[in-house]
Amino acid sequence: MKNEELLKLNNKILNAYKDKDIVLGNGNVDSPIILIGEAPGAKEVEQKKPFVGQAGKYLNEFLTTLEIKREKVYITNIVKYRPTKESAKTGRLVNRPPTEKEIEKFVDFLFAEICIIDPEVLVTLGNTPLKGIFQNDVKIGDVHGEMLQAEIDRKPYKVFPLYHPAAILYKRDLKDTYLKDLHILKGILSEMGVNI
Ligand code: URA
Repeated sequence: MKNEELLKLNNKILNAYKDKDIVLGNGNVDSPIILIGEAPGAKEVEQKKPFVGQAGKYLNEFLTTLEIKREKVYITNIVKYRPTKESAKTGRLVNRPPTEKEIEKFVDFLFAEICIIDPEVLVTLGNTPLKGIFQNDVKIGDVHGEMLQAEIDRKPYKVFPLYHPAAILYKRDLKDTYLKDLHILKGILSEMGVNI
């Protein structure tokens, strides 16, 4: 049932963005948590799977910290193509953060995806999915490691914001904060009786 609904939704996304290389959500559709990233990078486009590049390596480490097997969870991005710009230095295409317009265009698809998976906790990675879900200026620096609530299609969902795993690449001092947040999440999931 979930697989069928997801297939329909995914076809809608593919049809709406025929000119783009789309990377769809992937993983266990019955997962009690959904991990939501920003947008795919080059490696993700190549393999057509979210979080398989460098950020994915960090994500895998964090999942190991939580003692969660990657194949047991569902992983997606809010924006489903790779946003790029031309590097002024090299003239090559490099990643850029999605624009507000791009986030806005994809948010209904994300909400539909969440409603199909219907997890107990949404774990957002970085600012971009937070912007989409709360449609205002919630900033990761203010809310990371805290359980929030969001109403999606008139249903309340628990949202646990984490920093984006790639942020640790650039700001090493975030690693301790990230580990602390992961332990908070682990405690909450165990209190909720969520078994993954
Ligand atoms: N960063 C993301 O937010 N998503 C990916 O899939 C890869 C890197």
